[in-house]
Amino acid sequence: MPELHYPFERTLPESGDTLEIMPGIKWLRMPLPFALNHVNLWMIAEGDGWCQIDTGLTWDAIKDIWLKLLKTHKLTRQIVTHYHPDHIGLAGWLEQQLGIELWMTQGEYLGAQAFADGSGNFHVDAMIEMFRYHGMDWKRLDALKLRGNVYRAGFPVIPSTYHRLFDNQVIDIGGNAWRVIAGYGHAMEHASLYCESLGILISGDMLLPSISTNIPVIAANPRGNPLKHFLDSIQRYRELPQNTLVLPSHGRPFVGINTRIDQLEAHHQNRCDVLLAAAAEPRTASELLPFLFDRDITDTHQSMFAMSEAIAHLNYLEEQKRLKRVEENGIARFCAM
Ligand SMILES: [Zn+2]
Repeated sequence: MPELHYPFERTLPESGDTLEIMPGIKWLRMPLPFALNHVNLWMIAEGDGWCQIDTGLTWDAIKDIWLKLLKTHKLTRQIVTHYHPDHIGLAGWLEQQLGIELWMTQGEYLGAQAFADGSGNFHVDAMIEMFRYHGMDWKRLDALKLRGNVYRAGFPVIPSTYHRLFDNQVIDIGGNAWRVIAGYGHAMEHASLYCESLGILISGDMLLPSISTNIPVIAANPRGNPLKHFLDSIQRYRELPQNTLVLPSHGRPFVGINTRIDQLEAHHQNRCDVLLAAAAEPRTASELLPFLFDRDITDTHQSMFAMSEAIAHLNYLEEQKRLKRVEENGIARFCAM
């Protein structure tokens, strides 16, 4: 299989500093206090300032970086790819500081509100109940309960209004046409941005070079099939020219869209094969975790990602009628058909 090409293999912006990708486009790498230790933000020149793509997590260290950056960079508006806290985290704060408008798809804006408010099954308790149904033990469930609504902590202020983005909408940023490409399976209505004249795709979390995008089932849509939606969504990037430079939210900018899509398809196919083999006897999602992930998942944050992604693969295989769900005493087990 051909390999990805990394044009910035030897250079990284210092944490909290910018690096020019090309005239008018800057890469801003912000720290994250997780196993995944950074998120990439992008700045596109427009007028006498910069259109900001994503904002970083609400965290004092990042606010300090912003306060320093804002002395030399005027922001004109903020476009947020999706509702996860490392992307939208400081949108409310930046709006308060600068009065700049938030541009976002409707699915992401409403999803942000629902998770922050914990309304209906967007509440942490509903996620815990879904994990219990999928066989998670009480120790892990209690740890998740104790953690509470971490989403709210990473994202305390939501701008009260937004400018709605639509799939396929073309917006002008600094004299260049950028097309919104909506994607599903990772978040509600994730927006990637593609500029044909510059040959750039800002992929957000939909196409990452070295880690596979998290694909979660959420408690508000427990029988959903996000893995199918994700695999369908990334097909759209195949239509873009192969020399397109992809700017991902994590990892380094890369060239090789089709290669990366091939790798991701093979990865999920392999995970499905492993699950089917392990489900020769009925097992819960929780019992299947060691088959799906090579590392031991002890961290509470990671266990949430792992469970929701295991359920996504099970729902996918169930919809393909390759697995059968058996419910007993309020617990679901899956068995190969
Ligand atoms: Zn994300």
